[in-house]
Amino acid sequence: MRSKRLEMLYRTLIKEHSNNPKNKRTLENATGEIELFNPSCGDLMIIQFKLDHDILTEVCFEGQGCAISMASASMMTELMQGKSINEAKDLIGQFYQLVQGNKEVDTKLLKDAVYLEGVSKFPTRIRCATLSWHALEQGLKEQE
Ligand code: ZN
Repeated sequence: MRSKRLEMLYRTLIKEHSNNPKNKRTLENATGEIELFNPSCGDLMIIQFKLDHDILTEVCFEGQGCAISMASASMMTELMQGKSINEAKDLIGQFYQLVQGNKEVDTKLLKDAVYLEGVSKFPTRIRCATLSWHALEQGLKEQE
């Protein structure tokens, strides 16, 4: 069982990401751009990325929404810089498992995004947490 203290720490770290999101800017000359909306919460997410061959050299986001969607986009864009398409797809899959409460996920790989594991207890927030990840996933599919 996770301790209350750890849960509070995670909450603080999520707040930090949503208050000071990383990579929240417009990307010039993006390779791909995907806009997704989460009607149940009202989150609007725009993911932009640059590919050099199969490497994600830059991943940025724009949009507005709840703290979880913004924090998750900040964590996701930070995690994906410099990753290959295959690595990115694998990480996206691992993150989906994490927020569904699968304990077998290699949490080290997901870096700050592990702070979002608590949303598995709140099914209505899972879509908030995965919105930016779905957007990147869709964008990478369009590149194939
Ligand atoms: Zn939301």
